[in-house]
Amino acid sequence: MKFELEYGFNNQSMPKFEQYEIKVINNIKYVVPKVNKGTKTSYSLISFEAYEENDKSLIDFINLGKLSLENKKYTDTLLIEYVNKYGLLGIIHDLPVNRYYTLDTKVILKEFNNVSDVKYYDCFNAMTILDYFKVFFPTANDEEIKKLIEKSNNLICQRSMEKFITPELNELYYKNEKYYEQADIIVNYAQNLYKILKELKKDNEEYIDTSLIEKLESNHIRTNLNYNGVTIHVRSLKEYIDENFKLFAIQEKKYLKLCKHCGKAFTAPNPKTEYDTFSCKNQENVYKSRAKNQE
Ligand SMILES: [Zn+2]
Repeated sequence: MKFELEYGFNNQSMPKFEQYEIKVINNIKYVVPKVNKGTKTSYSLISFEAYEENDKSLIDFINLGKLSLENKKYTDTLLIEYVNKYGLLGIIHDLPVNRYYTLDTKVILKEFNNVSDVKYYDCFNAMTILDYFKVFFPTANDEEIKKLIEKSNNLICQRSMEKFITPELNELYYKNEKYYEQADIIVNYAQNLYKILKELKKDNEEYIDTSLIEKLESNHIRTNLNYNGVTIHVRSLKEYIDENFKLFAIQEKKYLKLCKHCGKAFTAPNPKTEYDTFSCKNQENVYKSRAKNQE
């Protein structure tokens, strides 16, 4: 069984600026692309296929959480280091429960958005689409945002297949020089993942804080069953990290199988288990030895 994470459907990459920096706007710390006046802004594509190890963006992210908890002073440096390597998280896609939120007048935010343990997100669960875009485009004016929403909706409605929408929306947002993400949201999320992993790796006798673990939920992730495995279609680095985390963090994987003797479905604790019960295993052995004796 193979799990594959596909990034942004038909292309495995997303746009990313070459350099990022921290900027404070209205008392909120943002991670913003470095834009040099006069020179053309350069951005590159980050391809997840190019990584030798697919779990690198996840491992580095969890360790960003760990290190930022231990060294508050260096948090900004660590954060910029991470974003310069992998790009922003793509959180704009992550919070809304409505999949194509630009088509609606209001955005419903998911219950456990998991990106911030600050009470910030508890004070609202619905906001107008314009206000929602201002969280990610704090320096854009209403006109610019309205144009962006209009463009998004044209893209969504023109496309004959849904798989073409995500890469185009990603280009529209992440190539935009005014798309910013809040530093605290990213860092809190990294710290939460680290804390969740610590809870998951505890022995059963220890106290395990499940309230934290339950907060790791995903919105509208599409999954396809293939001949030799499962492909999970993710739309942002955030979703990529979430899904990778879930796949790797589960301690005991159960395998859905059919018993080799009776043909009934069952879940096996390990991939090598072939029979659902001891009696099936015994009976199969009896048949085998009888067949041998007859020879
Ligand atoms: Zn059986």
